[in-house]
Amino acid sequence: MTLVDETPFSRPRPIPDDNLVPDLHGVDAFAGDAIASGVVERYAPWARERASALGSRVWDPEVLETARKAQRHTPELRPLDRLGREVFDVDFHPSYHDLMSLAFGSGVHSLAWTADEPGAHSARAVLSYLWNQVDGSTACPTGMAYASIPILRGRPELAPWAEKVVVEGYDPADVPVTAKSAATIGYFMTEKHGGSDLRANVTVARPVGRRGTGETYLVNGHKWFASVPMADCYLTVAQTEGGVSCLLIPRRRADGSLNGIRVNRLKDKLGNRANASSEIEYHDAEALLVGEEGKGVRTILSSAEYTRLDFAIGSAGLMRAALSQALHVNDHRTAFGVPLSQLPIQAPVLADLALEWAGAAHLGFRVARAEDHQDDVSEQLVSRLLTPVAKFWNCRRVSGVTEEVIQSIGGNAYIEEHPLPRYYREAPLNAIWEGTSNMMVMDVGRVLAREPKALEPVLDDIRPAAAEHPLLAGALADIEELVNEPEDTTRYLVTRLALAAQAALLVEHAPTAVADAFVTSRLGTGWGPGYGTLRGVDFEAIIDHARLG
Ligand SMILES: Cc1cc2nc3c(=O)[nH]c(=O)nc-3n(C[C@H](O)[C@H](O)[C@H](O)COP(=O)(O)OP(=O)(O)OC[C@H]3O[C@@H](n4cnc5c(N)ncnc54)[C@H](O)[C@@H]3O)c2cc1C
Repeated sequence: MTLVDETPFSRPRPIPDDNLVPDLHGVDAFAGDAIASGVVERYAPWARERASALGSRVWDPEVLETARKAQRHTPELRPLDRLGREVFDVDFHPSYHDLMSLAFGSGVHSLAWTADEPGAHSARAVLSYLWNQVDGSTACPTGMAYASIPILRGRPELAPWAEKVVVEGYDPADVPVTAKSAATIGYFMTEKHGGSDLRANVTVARPVGRRGTGETYLVNGHKWFASVPMADCYLTVAQTEGGVSCLLIPRRRADGSLNGIRVNRLKDKLGNRANASSEIEYHDAEALLVGEEGKGVRTILSSAEYTRLDFAIGSAGLMRAALSQALHVNDHRTAFGVPLSQLPIQAPVLADLALEWAGAAHLGFRVARAEDHQDDVSEQLVSRLLTPVAKFWNCRRVSGVTEEVIQSIGGNAYIEEHPLPRYYREAPLNAIWEGTSNMMVMDVGRVLAREPKALEPVLDDIRPAAAEHPLLAGALADIEELVNEPEDTTRYLVTRLALAAQAALLVEHAPTAVADAFVTSRLGTGWGPGYGTLRGVDFEAIIDHARLG
């Protein structure tokens, strides 16, 4: 006799598949993003189609899979070729090259310098913001290329690189730049004993013949961090008779031979794993002096405002990508019979994350707008002061956002098939390279000490909103006093400045519910250090402003 258990607990019940959230695919990351599309509409409507084309790829399943594979199958150094000759080549997974083609082919690196229309930096910033939602590893070479173009241009001896770096395209061939359709560039400054203080560099460069701008030097020494060693040229710093100087080192000499470089190792990194970051030595590497001897730090830092802007924008993009995932899952998955996003303890978390993203995105785009108006002295001062502020603030806040998003999605976001682990590992990096947080704080202190009037146009931006919001008016008064405080309070000053600038931008551009909640939480006293302690605000309106579409 067969025993058949007919109780209702003999078999599992059907899994409610409507609670298994499908991947976020197919939405338009540009058109659906109120802030990015607002920037293009206001300052660069001519770039709408271009931004839309890239925005439609951000959540394209094929692109997502390419980005995942590129991080999974990391680059490998191939020091010697089959015959034992030194090549110091890097083997990348094809997905890396696909990402490079899409990013460089979309003008993420160069639109600011190639478009004749107004608002070109704003338009390029939108492209970079979108690209950083796809992949941080390739956002490193796009950011360096963007920053280098003003240095390369206008110096006839650098024309072969200037012409190829601006090209919208990607050519991975390891041949002299003249034989390539497009080129990439690296910035190699950091040495083993420290990256913040470039004046302490021990790498040396001596002239082959005459000294001076555009002349050939031989460089000997090392760089402890050298991302993109397969770039066609590297901007580097070395000691010359005249002091610390900036030089351009081609990877390949004009005759096709490998220049005097040795790549010792690729770094095994926390994140940004598709990008080959290396340790490199120079052995009589042929280089061209860029700018004057002794002016190397100034020359290289002349492009730092662009890399720093790009990282501030990139971190806002990364927040956006994480937030898009959080909202997608929280709107689709239910618990206790309601969508997660409507749960009374979850809605404040999501709204708080949405405020963080909105503040970061507006701040980054504000700096980009200042770059669009460098013929105006006030905007020069805005970019001089707000660039390190935005780099400091956005790049630090992004780690907390990615962590909270993992929490808001739950266990699936901790698994490598999900994009969140990639975002989480990527998040701390922008705060390190191109100047750590303390370097940004010191830079703000330096600007205010040397050019106290730089604060005025930034405060002028904030004043109209402060007239409506007493908490913002209080922050302004605070900032004006903090400027005269001792150096150890500068980090607090920078934090107040970042929050006040973000608040004013939201009052100007965001729905009232978003701006009011930002001001009350970030500038008031009733908000905790983690996310989700917002109180008495319109959670749904804030979340809705952040939804894609
Ligand atoms: C993945 C990755 C890729 C990189 N790629 C490149 C690259 O391609 N090219 C390149 O040149 N570099 C690259 N870097 C290096 C990066 O730019 C440096 O790590 C960074 O500039 C900081 O230098 P450091 O690590 O030597 O830290 P240090 O300069 O030793 O600083 C350590 C700490 O001390 C603080 N500090 C230092 N001086 C002061 C001060 N005066 N006052 C207060 N605080 C201070 C810093 O803020 C930091 O918190 C890369 C780094 C990483 C992680």
